[in-house]
Amino acid sequence: MTNSAKSLDCDAIVIGAGFAGLYMLRKLRDELGLTARVFERGDNVGGTWYWNRYPGARCDSESYIYCYSFDRELLQEWEWSGKYPEQPEILSYLNHVADRFDLRRSIDFNTSVVSAHYDDARDRWEVTTDKGEVIASRFLITGIGCLSAGQVPDIQGRELFKGESYHTGAWPHEGVDLQGKRVGVIGTGSSGVQSIPVIARDAAQLFVFQRTPQYTIPARHGTVDKAFLDNVKANYDEIWREAKTSAGGAPYTPIDRSALSVSEEERNAVYEDAWQQGGFKFVLASFNDIVIDPRANETASEFIRSKIREIVNDPVTAEKLVPKDHPFTSKRALIDTDYFDTYNRDNVTLVDIRESPIQEITETGIRTAAADYDLDVIVFATGFDAMTGPYFKIDIRGKDGVALKEKWSAGPRTYLGISTAGFPNLLMITGPGSPSVLSNMPVSIEQHVEWIADTISTMRAQGKQTIEADAQAEADWVEHVNAMAQPTLFMQADSWYLGANIPGKPRVFMPYVGGVGAYRIKCDEVAAAGYEGFVLA
Ligand code: NAP
Repeated sequence: MTNSAKSLDCDAIVIGAGFAGLYMLRKLRDELGLTARVFERGDNVGGTWYWNRYPGARCDSESYIYCYSFDRELLQEWEWSGKYPEQPEILSYLNHVADRFDLRRSIDFNTSVVSAHYDDARDRWEVTTDKGEVIASRFLITGIGCLSAGQVPDIQGRELFKGESYHTGAWPHEGVDLQGKRVGVIGTGSSGVQSIPVIARDAAQLFVFQRTPQYTIPARHGTVDKAFLDNVKANYDEIWREAKTSAGGAPYTPIDRSALSVSEEERNAVYEDAWQQGGFKFVLASFNDIVIDPRANETASEFIRSKIREIVNDPVTAEKLVPKDHPFTSKRALIDTDYFDTYNRDNVTLVDIRESPIQEITETGIRTAAADYDLDVIVFATGFDAMTGPYFKIDIRGKDGVALKEKWSAGPRTYLGISTAGFPNLLMITGPGSPSVLSNMPVSIEQHVEWIADTISTMRAQGKQTIEADAQAEADWVEHVNAMAQPTLFMQADSWYLGANIPGKPRVFMPYVGGVGAYRIKCDEVAAAGYEGFVLA
């Protein structure tokens, strides 16, 4: 590994220029002095925040912790304007990072990696782009995101629709004029719940096609108090220490009190207070067992159901919006701004597609078993082929030409969510089997980037060329990831965590539920023990 690599040969290829790829590039190029190239399919940096520009797009993590922690000056100079960062602001932040560290010169934009094949004879990855370029690289590092392969359901007649249609994760950069239009939104996950209230303000009529009702907590978004941010900046070291050792990657101290240890009156007062404060603190600052104990959980689920019935004026609509088939937090927890209130607007209609399924998309709109809905625009807020989808979009082949898609055909198999046996020097940032999507992503991303950089540095010092997960260590980790997930409430819902949103996808719980703090300790222990469970050659 040297700086004087041939022009078409490099030390490391990084795929993706989002949070993960940008920091990985900074580490490899500027700290380790490696020749590194980043390939990014968009025409600019940002990853998730480059693509997800739908109305109302915003992060559910609070601004001051939805950022990098690796550079103190960067932390001090950036000013967040709101409690939760909105998509344009996160994108500006990532552009600022790219400029500040002069990262763009190592990024090929508008370039997708179509294949990556491991050359056993040379111990190199041979990477081919859609521009026809073929580059050999010792390391292949994926910063491709967990939720970057959008899924538009294969509804009969979709291609016949004469109006406009968009997926929330591929929203046009110039925006979409919805003023005065009849809009149908399919899907009520995070993207639907965020976009529906905003679309309702512009559209003449909005029809929401709901399959599964959602629990969602008010975000209580607003401008961020300058005094609060000053205090954060003065205490960032401690804030990051807490975030990095926590379960979810946020510096919130969970309350040590069971929902079942107090009277119903007291419990509801706690929930009411947490509801008024808003955000994920509803879970963490109320009771310690609502995500663990089904009886405790039912008290929180029931509280939210009562709120929906209270907010939504029409009792029939309210009842359709009340989730009854899965417990709160078993699907990705949501926070919202005016979501349930939106159903009190005259121009908004909820269409229950469990009751009357969508039969087809026609030239003029959506036909359910009960009615035809004439539409000018269809918005697919239908989610992603999560975690494995981004990998399967690239033809990745390891030793002996084995395809990753083949190896993972019964579900992803990784060691620590970083490496997979048979694919030497393929290192995954927030891959399946790591906490990733169950955490505040920048915290998990930084941990992986730093672990990978340290690993490459150690390999260099020891004269090692390749690192690969040991097959037994991988099997043990896969079993551990599954065993940890089995007793949790996550197993009680059809969620994308389990691949349940993609027809035919194996039902396997993909992220690691052990928490970012415990997981970090495990990764550090593995490294300290001479990369236990890996083969370094
Ligand atoms: P999602 O959570 O998977 O929601 C997709 C929605 O579309 C669900 O309501 C789903 O119904 C529905 N749907 C899917 N296929 C359908 C079909 N064939 N017919 C009818 N309805 C269908 O996707 P998302 O809202 O894009 O969010 C994905 C993840 O991205 C989130 O969980 C979160 O991790 C991340 N995200 C985060 C933010 C944020 O931080 N604020 C914002 C957006 C996204 P079912 O529930 O019945 O499957």
